[in-house]
Amino acid sequence: MVGVDIGNSTTEASLAKIDADGGAVFLGSALTRTTGIKGTVKNVEGVAKAVVWSLQHAGIGIAELDVVLLNEATPVISGLAMETITETIITESTMIGHDPRTPGGRGLGVGTIVDFAALAEATPGTPLIVVVPADVDFDVVAATINAAAHRGVEVSGAILRNDDAVLVANRLDTKIPIIDEVSLIEAVPRGMTAAVEVAAPGQSIRTLSNAYGLATIFGLDPEQTRVVSPVARALTGNRSAVVVRTPSGDVADRTIPAGALTLIGARKTATVDVSRGAVEVMAEVERVSPLMDVTGQAGTNSGGMIANVRQSMADLSNHTLADVHIQDLLAIDTLVPKEVRGGVAGEVALENAVALAAMVRTKESGMQAVADEVAAQLRGLGAEAVEVVVGGVEAEMAVLGALTTPGTDKPLVVLDLGGGSSDAAVIQTDGRTEATHLAGAGDLVTKLIDAELGLDNLELAEQIKRCPLGKAESFFHVRLENGTVQFFDTPLPATAFARVVTLGDTGMSPIPTRHSLDRIRGVRRTAKERVFVVNALRALRGIAPGGDLRQIGFVVLLGGCALDFEIPQLIADAVAPYGIVCGTGNVRGTEGPRNAVASGLVAAFAASLVAAHA
Ligand code: ADP
Ligand code: MG
Repeated sequence: MVGVDIGNSTTEASLAKIDADGGAVFLGSALTRTTGIKGTVKNVEGVAKAVVWSLQHAGIGIAELDVVLLNEATPVISGLAMETITETIITESTMIGHDPRTPGGRGLGVGTIVDFAALAEATPGTPLIVVVPADVDFDVVAATINAAAHRGVEVSGAILRNDDAVLVANRLDTKIPIIDEVSLIEAVPRGMTAAVEVAAPGQSIRTLSNAYGLATIFGLDPEQTRVVSPVARALTGNRSAVVVRTPSGDVADRTIPAGALTLIGARKTATVDVSRGAVEVMAEVERVSPLMDVTGQAGTNSGGMIANVRQSMADLSNHTLADVHIQDLLAIDTLVPKEVRGGVAGEVALENAVALAAMVRTKESGMQAVADEVAAQLRGLGAEAVEVVVGGVEAEMAVLGALTTPGTDKPLVVLDLGGGSSDAAVIQTDGRTEATHLAGAGDLVTKLIDAELGLDNLELAEQIKRCPLGKAESFFHVRLENGTVQFFDTPLPATAFARVVTLGDTGMSPIPTRHSLDRIRGVRRTAKERVFVVNALRALRGIAPGGDLRQIGFVVLLGGCALDFEIPQLIADAVAPYGIVCGTGNVRGTEGPRNAVASGLVAAFAASLVAAHA
């Protein structure tokens, strides 16, 4: 017989035979991607594949297959939404928070903006910042600036259209800060006061990223300083920047009305404004729990997010909107890079955003239809006598499977860290079980990494999530993220050189962004913490007797994300203060955190046969 667990992402199969005493003897296992939405007939393809593979690996003919056991899949599906709730808008181009790859020179220069064409006629007296369009050669730029300097004209900085800053800087008699690659050079307002700052390699600017630095340069009063403080914030961490002061220019740090969510609990209802942040939203979710549904304020971002989640879930599960109820919500604050509206060089500011994961309980599961179809398909493949049985509540089966991990005992809590949801189940000493399903898991981590690093590439984000980082410092060695060095006998690929790379099973792949290793690592770890540590604690509080975490003895981590190289550690660290033994499961002592539900199905079925005989 084969036990099969259909998950949101993965379908797992465990093959066993019943020995003379009625015990289950495991012969093999297999896993494959779940086909279609969990609980729908599309799953059949994946189920058949996993069953056939598990038989093949064990060298057993398909005709010998008697029983396939399917889990009664918990009818929950999860959805994600993300919205920015602040927006930086520049009116009249007051800022170039631009960070070209190769700025030139160094230091801070303040002056009046003058067009390159006017530089030859400029007279001494006022310091100037020269703006150079695309059609001027770098040799000419350097010669003209040098000539002006010899006439006593103080050129204190330059803004270039082309990628020529280093070429120009190398040809100047006096070093000045130079910024290049400013695409909308025509939009830089002439005649205004501007400041250009370039930091030394490896450093970031100090003056223009400091609100009081700006106030000092431009002589701002407290009210004006308040207005420009978003500029300073947006420039933080850049190696170079330009700030232009225009009389009516304005940078606004606008809060987009995020709207309120109404959380409907079994006994209490609460309304909470999303712009108050994830902590407050989650406090309310906990206060009204158990959650029965969530609605958003129409015409606001949060209203739109909730509506989107509900609609996509209704579409997926073939339910009407009225039948879709949100039974858990996870809100997370994030900062995402967004292009600034009104900028002139593709300036990017970090905006506040909220990510929401929602868990929907669907009306009923369609597992019987799946079972019938699986039976038909397997019979067609030669398993003439096969019976397909739906049975076993997923959470109970997961606990049974987890208990086969060496060193575990009841009471035991299972945390199944999947793609869409984090599921928790507890088994008490007397065998009673209880389960809870929380929104937010591996897919949300991937999505946060994607958004916070501005990748727009979920595959790359998934790879960053799963692999440690390194930096190829020479053609023969990589500095790993823990500070150690790995040497190679053959030269590394040229594409990896001086790049931050992920170190996967199949080798290293360069990450095509300019983020530093530390930044990528920081984003990766906080995303995991904000999803899994938060959810682990929520789940444990939800099922611990009296909400007291000290009553929990053992926690076994299961599911794809328990295979992660750091998530189990992050969770173990968070629960250690409660005296909990927490580790990654090793189902049957061989399967790692995989196959718990499938193994539990088989064990439960074997036990029921024995009971029927007695
Ligand atoms: P489900 O039970 O919902 O089908 P899984 O238990 O298969 O889901 O977990 C899927 C999640 O596990 C995904 O978010 C995926 O990124 C993650 N995952 C799978 N394999 C690994 C791995 N080797 N390392 C880290 N994460 C992994
Ligand atoms: Mg699962």
